[in-house]
Amino acid sequence: MIYEVLRAGNPVLKQVSEPVEKIDRRIRRLLDDMHATMLLYNGIGLAAPQIGKNIRAIVIELDEKRYDLINPKILKREGKSVDTEGCLSVPDLFGEVERSEKVEVEFLDRYGKKKKIWTEGLLARCVQHEIDHLDGQLFIDIAQSVHRGEEK
Ligand SMILES: [Zn+2]
Repeated sequence: MIYEVLRAGNPVLKQVSEPVEKIDRRIRRLLDDMHATMLLYNGIGLAAPQIGKNIRAIVIELDEKRYDLINPKILKREGKSVDTEGCLSVPDLFGEVERSEKVEVEFLDRYGKKKKIWTEGLLARCVQHEIDHLDGQLFIDIAQSVHRGEEK
């Protein structure tokens, strides 16, 4: 099923989401629906609050690799970088956002197995952007500057 993506201004996007307690077929179906929704709207990441569910679940797809992150937590950070971001919940706006260049993230996969990965570059940026959604924060809340229109 394809969900409607909530837009900035919706109070659901400002809430701190709850950890996923039980990893079962229901959550796997939700992740699959989030993934389908994300691809339909040409996103590279989507967090559950963006489809109206305040739970700590994220999907990302980059370089044809899919990541399902449940209850993700950043353990370590290295370096800084500033780059342009956009968001399916903030259509037509882009902003320059400072993020950590590399992050180590711990999470549960779609079967509840605990994993730990180092990410860098765009994947690290995406992980941080999506985890911010779980904490009720949008990139426009922390961007150094915001502009309309095409990504530059
Ligand atoms: Zn976003």
